[in-house]
Amino acid sequence: MTITRFAPSPTGYIHVGNLRTALMNFLIARKAGGTFILRIDDTDPVRSKEEYVDALKEDLDWLGLHWDRVERQSERLDRYHDAADRLREMGRFYEAFETPTELDLKRKKQLNMGRPPVYDRAALALDDAARDKLRAERGPGVWRFKLDQQRIEWDDGVLGDIIIDAASVSDPVLIRGDGQVLYTLASVVDDTEMGVTHVVRGSDHVTNTATQIQIIEALGGSVPQFAHHSLLTGPQGESLSKRLGTLSLRDLRAQGVEPAALLSLMARLGSADPVELRTDMDALIEGFDISRFGAAPTKFDVADLFPLTAHYLQGLDYATVKPRIAALGVPDDLAPQFWAVTRDNITTLGDLDAWWAMFRDGAEPVIEDEDAEFIAEAMTLLPEGKLDETSWSAWTTAVKEETGRKGKALFMPLRKALTGQAHGPEMAQVLPLLQVIRARG
Ligand code: GLU
Repeated sequence: MTITRFAPSPTGYIHVGNLRTALMNFLIARKAGGTFILRIDDTDPVRSKEEYVDALKEDLDWLGLHWDRVERQSERLDRYHDAADRLREMGRFYEAFETPTELDLKRKKQLNMGRPPVYDRAALALDDAARDKLRAERGPGVWRFKLDQQRIEWDDGVLGDIIIDAASVSDPVLIRGDGQVLYTLASVVDDTEMGVTHVVRGSDHVTNTATQIQIIEALGGSVPQFAHHSLLTGPQGESLSKRLGTLSLRDLRAQGVEPAALLSLMARLGSADPVELRTDMDALIEGFDISRFGAAPTKFDVADLFPLTAHYLQGLDYATVKPRIAALGVPDDLAPQFWAVTRDNITTLGDLDAWWAMFRDGAEPVIEDEDAEFIAEAMTLLPEGKLDETSWSAWTTAVKEETGRKGKALFMPLRKALTGQAHGPEMAQVLPLLQVIRARG
C-alpha cells in the first residue's frame, strides 16, 4: 500500500514551490491507488496560524488535490515525547546547554581551522553534577540525537545513490529548551506510525533525510523511499526564495491562472517530458513518473502559466463558462454569442469582464487626428437596419470605394474607433453583437 503525505507548516500561504511537493506526493499516491495524507506541521505554536491551515486547504481544493485524511502534529505531541523517552532510554538522546552565541563561536573557530562546523558533542562529556549546575543556571537544555558516525546511504528517487558521512553532520536538536518538539523528530514519528512509504520533498531537506534515516532506524521504523526534487529558480536561474511570497497559489488564482494550467506545468517542469496542457487529472496521474525528473535547479517563469491558461479557457464549451458569463450580467440569450465572439481573445477569465464592459458601455473611441475625417465619413456609410456577419464586409467595401483606403489603413482606424483597441475579436462578429447590446441600452 502506497502512502504519501504533503506536510506544510502553516506559517504562510503556500506557493508554487510547495505545490510541486504536494503535487508529486499526490500523483504518486493516486497512481498507485494509495493514500494521500495532508499533514499539518504545526508544532511551532507561535508561527503556526489557523488562517493558514484554512488557506492551504482552500488552495489544494481549488487545484483538485484532494487528500484522504488530515493529521495535525499539534494533536500528537504525546507520541513525540514517547519517542523522545525511547531515544533517551537507548542512550541516543542527550541534553546540551550551549547558548546560540557559544555555538556560533565554536563554528567560527572550526571554520578558521579549516574544519567543518559540526557540533563537537561537548555536552556528552558532562556528568550529572555539571548538568544540574548548567540547568540551574541556564534552564533546561536542548535535546540532541546522537548520530551513529557512519555512512548513511539511500537510493533517492530523483538524486540516485546518496551517501552522507554522519560525522560531517551535527547531532540534530530534536527538542528545544522550552520543550517544543522540532519537525525533525515529529516528522519521523509520523512517517513511521502512519506507514508512509514515499516521501517527496525539496532538496533542501537532503541533510535532514540523512539524520532522519538514523532516527527512524533507532525507533525501529521502516525507512520510506525518499525523493528530493530540485528547487525552483527564477527564469534567469536566480534564487526564488525571496520572491516565493509573491508566487502564492492565491495570488496566482487572483491573477486568473487556471488550475489546469498550474497543474500541467508543475507536473512536468524539470522533467524530461514536455509540458502539455492536461485538462483531466487522470491523464496527469497516468503520465507521472518521478524518475523522469532531473536534479538540476528548475527554472520557473510565472509567464508560462498564461498561455496555458488561455489554451485551457479557449477550449471550454459554453456550458462550462455559462455561470461565469452570467455573473458578469450578460443576458442569457446573448451569452453564447458573447462567448463565441470573445473566447479567442482572452488570456484569463477576467478578460471577459473587459470585453463585456466594452460591449455594454461602448468603448472610448480611439481616433487618431489624421483619421478623424475618415471615421466621420465611414460612419455615414454604416449599413442601415439589423447588422449581421456580412455587414462588416459590406460596410468596409463601401468605405473603401468612397475613401480609397484599403488594408490596415482601412480596418485599423475602424476597429479602434469602435472597440477602443487595436486587437480583439473578428470585427464581423463584433459589429452585430455590439448593435444588439447597444440597442438594449
Ligand atoms: N513541514 C516541512 C516543510 O514544510 C515538511 C518537510 C517534509 O516533507 O518532511 O518543510
